[in-house]
Amino acid sequence: MDISVVVPLYNEEESLPELTDWIRRVMLKHGFSYEIILVDDGSSDKSWKVIEELRRGHEEIIGIKFRRNYGKSAALNVGFNAAEGEVVITMDADLQDSPDEIPELYDRIVNQQADLVSGWKQKRYDPLTKTIPTKLFNAVTRSMSGIHNLHDFNCGLKAYRKDVIKSIEVYGEMHRYIPVLAKWAGFKKIQEQVVQHYPRKYGTTKFGPGRFIKGFLDLLSIFFVGKFGKRPMHFFGTIGVLSFLVGFFITCYLIFEKLMSIANGSAYRNVTDQPLFYLSLVAILIGTQLFLTGFIAELVSRNATDRNKYHIEKMI
Ligand code: UDP
Ligand code: MG
Repeated sequence: MDISVVVPLYNEEESLPELTDWIRRVMLKHGFSYEIILVDDGSSDKSWKVIEELRRGHEEIIGIKFRRNYGKSAALNVGFNAAEGEVVITMDADLQDSPDEIPELYDRIVNQQADLVSGWKQKRYDPLTKTIPTKLFNAVTRSMSGIHNLHDFNCGLKAYRKDVIKSIEVYGEMHRYIPVLAKWAGFKKIQEQVVQHYPRKYGTTKFGPGRFIKGFLDLLSIFFVGKFGKRPMHFFGTIGVLSFLVGFFITCYLIFEKLMSIANGSAYRNVTDQPLFYLSLVAILIGTQLFLTGFIAELVSRNATDRNKYHIEKMI
């Protein structure tokens, strides 16, 4: 199969018939073999009914329904797991992304050997309250990730070589950072494609203003997890041991100083009368605590698979 189109959706009943129709027209025109994976992220409207109807007579449409709203990342992740196409394309359900971009995205993956192609909504049809924080978000992400050629990390329209999506796990709010996850998984050929963007046709946006704070915390956490996630002991352990050693050497120095002054018969202060002594105690305690935290994080990270578990209610 040439292409899997993965569409995460939450309460998008009005858009789905138009969207699937439009995708189908593009696919037929270019002769692609394809599937459309519609992941219903626990919608409370009639989205799932619409999907069931759309599938009737169209087995290229696959529906996956979550038991509740798990978020866009979770929806993308199960879509990725189900995808069978050589090229996987993600697209929002709200008709803001254009299926007409699919042929060029496909070409870049297959003929230009890109691992990932990310859309750039150069001309956006979103309110300023969204576009300005987005610019800031992208600038921070660019500098922290070292992926300097992307302007629009969070663009819903992206294309991946199959092995890219099979090598990464998207959870929490990570859908904003898939190019970063891909880079960390070793996929370096990341391209950008300027894409058409439309105003939302039906319904309303599903993400509130809190998205950017959450997004920033996620960036910090994936930066941290990406660097130390597999071996938290390397992070906590290093600072812990350093702190411990600082405290230990200060104590040794104080004791040494006291012994010297006893030996010289000169006046001396008790070790416990010196403020430095308390500093060293704190350093030893903090060091031990950090070391133990690293140990616990190490244990937890070996069992941290829970967040990747979803409850799929139905699949057709
Ligand atoms: N979405 C989702 N789960 C959620 C929120 C959103 O699957 O919890 C889907 C939504 O239906 C749409 C896409 O993610 O297909 C992008 O959402 P939206 O259009 O609301 O975001 P915006 O365009 O405002 O950034
Ligand atoms: Mg949208």
